Amino acid sequence: MSDAADPHASPLAPGLYIVATPIGNLGDVTYRAVETLRRCAAVACEDTRVTGKLLNYLGIKQRLIRYDDHASEADRARLLALLAEQPVALVSDAGTPLISDPGYRLVRAAREAAIPVTSLPGPSAAVVALTLAGLPSDRFLFAGFLPSKDKARREILEELGTVRATLVFYETGPRLVDSLAALEAVLPGRELAVARELTKLYEECRTGSAAELAAHYRAHPPKGEIVLLVGPPGDRVVDSAEADALLREALASAKPSQAAAQVAKATGLDRKALYARALELRGE
Ligand code: SAM
Repeated sequence: MSDAADPHASPLAPGLYIVATPIGNLGDVTYRAVETLRRCAAVACEDTRVTGKLLNYLGIKQRLIRYDDHASEADRARLLALLAEQPVALVSDAGTPLISDPGYRLVRAAREAAIPVTSLPGPSAAVVALTLAGLPSDRFLFAGFLPSKDKARREILEELGTVRATLVFYETGPRLVDSLAALEAVLPGRELAVARELTKLYEECRTGSAAELAAHYRAHPPKGEIVLLVGPPGDRVVDSAEADALLREALASAKPSQAAAQVAKATGLDRKALYARALELRGE
């Protein structure tokens, strides 16, 4: 599939071309994306109206095929048969296909069928947010959307809270405050960032603790698209006054052992030492 790298080569070889598209600012479409969308035989997409608008903006007329990972085996088999003979682009509504978007099953099936697959890099909200937030970017864990149910959401936060990496979640406006409340309870003391409307007119990236951000977004219900980032445990120096404050906060709703575990997870401080201090604080 080397000719995907050379937009002047013609025609495109048969196969699957994963094409990232803008996440808001249409100026972010890449030159290769435009050329590939123009020169392929068809574009597989989540929503033909959304992709139709993008192609219209780019002045491209294309055959559109609706595809998502819930497509029937028969539909996928038809698309695979086409890919084996002709170049087909896969796009999602916005950003990079497969990243909280359809495509994984198709790529897997294409690879199993020895059909060439290539991927054209471009925008993805997770990476844009990570570059903007000022949180450690050397290690990050992208975990898609948090569950909407509180219990499941807290379980995931418990599980991921021990990972020494910045956590990156996709989020929606109506759920943001609930997720921040869960973070305050499960991972107190973490540094957070809310990146909203990236690449668009009202782009913002707000940082702070879960409590600070929850207070802000309770007062100003967030509109638009959101990425929520959680800094890793123990990446900043926590003094004993701050550790005491976090322990007191946790002790308001948890036993000393649980409070110590929560604060250890959030700060990277020693859990036994925190437990001893939690017992002292409770006795005060
Ligand atoms: N595949 C896309 C990508 O690569 O970013 C993500 C698709 S996912 C279905 C949609 C979610 O991505 C939104 O709910 C939001 O959390 C995030 N998102 C997409 N565009 C965004 C933007 N411009 N600003 C902030 N978050 C965005």
